[in-house]
Amino acid sequence: MTPLLKEAYSPEAFRKHAHALVDQLADYLSAAQQNEPGRFFTIHEPEALYASWKNKLNSNEQKDVPGFFTEILNGSLNLQHPRYMGHQVTAPLPITAIAGMLTQIVNNGLAVYEVGNTACVLEKLIIDTLAQVLGYNTEASGLLTSGGTLANLTALLTARAMITGTDVWENGQQEEKFALMVSEEAHYCVDRAVRVMGWGSEGIIKIPVNDSFSMRTELLPEYFAEAQRKGIRVVAVVGSACSTSTGAYDDLEAIAAFCKEHSLWFHADGAHGSAVAFSQKHKHLIKGIEHADSVVTDFHKLLLIPGLATAVVYKNGLHAFKTFRQDAQYLWNKATSIDHYNLGKKTFECTKVMMSVKIASALHLHGPQVWEDFVNTAHENGQLFAKAVTERNAIELALPPQSNIVCFRYIKGITDNETANRINRAIRSKLLENGNFFIVQTTLKGNVYLRVTLMNPFTSVEDMNGLLDEVESIGELWMKDYELPS
Ligand SMILES: *Cc1c(COP(=O)(O)O)cnc(C)c1O
Repeated sequence: MTPLLKEAYSPEAFRKHAHALVDQLADYLSAAQQNEPGRFFTIHEPEALYASWKNKLNSNEQKDVPGFFTEILNGSLNLQHPRYMGHQVTAPLPITAIAGMLTQIVNNGLAVYEVGNTACVLEKLIIDTLAQVLGYNTEASGLLTSGGTLANLTALLTARAMITGTDVWENGQQEEKFALMVSEEAHYCVDRAVRVMGWGSEGIIKIPVNDSFSMRTELLPEYFAEAQRKGIRVVAVVGSACSTSTGAYDDLEAIAAFCKEHSLWFHADGAHGSAVAFSQKHKHLIKGIEHADSVVTDFHKLLLIPGLATAVVYKNGLHAFKTFRQDAQYLWNKATSIDHYNLGKKTFECTKVMMSVKIASALHLHGPQVWEDFVNTAHENGQLFAKAVTERNAIELALPPQSNIVCFRYIKGITDNETANRINRAIRSKLLENGNFFIVQTTLKGNVYLRVTLMNPFTSVEDMNGLLDEVESIGELWMKDYELPS
């Protein structure tokens, strides 16, 4: 044991630093919630920021732990701030962050029961709770994994194992061509999963969306027949619940019926929106999800858990054991036995973070009601934001929102899409430069829209109008100085 190692593990140093950090973070939360007007973030030029950190980490100055944490806080986007309205990542419940500190000291690996115990059984409990609200019966089961991207890949690998009938796992990719069908608005990770599976660009058949940006399910038979003519075997249909850009939900009942008719795997990508299962008021949005062979739910989006924490739930829980079938002699005695608590059999990961403990801490302290409250608040905020937009002539909605994701653009005095695209892009850049509101942008049917995801429960109508006022005033300035194309 070197003196450095001894010092690094000092319980007293840990106590001191952790107490100080807790105070710092409590102040951080409190300041965010007080929402004083003005800038709340600054995005630094990446090369300069890199250089300044390189300096700091290499310096021989006295180490200042609270100072280090302060700089990390100041240099990070503040998702706890009510005027953060950007991406879909949650402002985590504080209790889950505290549980996170615990899990990081304990750091159990979870691939097998003996290196996880409690976290392994909590995982099953959480999956069972989710399966039940999704409308499944007790045959359903699944797993937790690191993010929706990996979760979708996992579910689609299961679909391949269950539907194709060819043993790719044993024999490698064969001659036969496989594909899945998904809306053109689906998250890009579905496309990525297809390519990882070796199906190439022909392996993803994109179904156009309607004016509400959900899949035109009436086109499924036509695209299916077209694939058959080309000798491509469709394995699965993926429904988006909801899609990322617009928050629009696909008609899951229609997809379920089509999959049943053709014996296809029905996968629901509910990374963002399947959380509505916890809300009596909004669960109608995912009607039909109980027919899905697999569902993905991100706990780090609408369910308030720090990233990453994602569930894959299978209608038939045994399917979870069909995805990866490997002997790992040093981990488990028998690769083929169905032991839910040996988590590594079902996940791509071997070592995995103890996400179940963070989720369980929220359930223990607040109960599932906290999820229902938040889902309702977020969805109500989506409607309030849309209302605030429609009250203005200068700004238009891309579509009426179904969730807490709202897309809109500045249009005052603009008659063509090209100008609208340039101005809206410029508005977003200026908004980031000003640092009063954080929002993102997206492209819908070739046109640029500003996009908010209302993830912070403290965001008020005043905040929304503050943002829209700023959008209008930047837009007006731009229009004055802007040479409109003739
Ligand atoms: C966010 C999202 C994903 C990706 O999930 P990550 O957890 O970011 O990997 C996939 N699909 C949809 C519909 C999403 O909204």
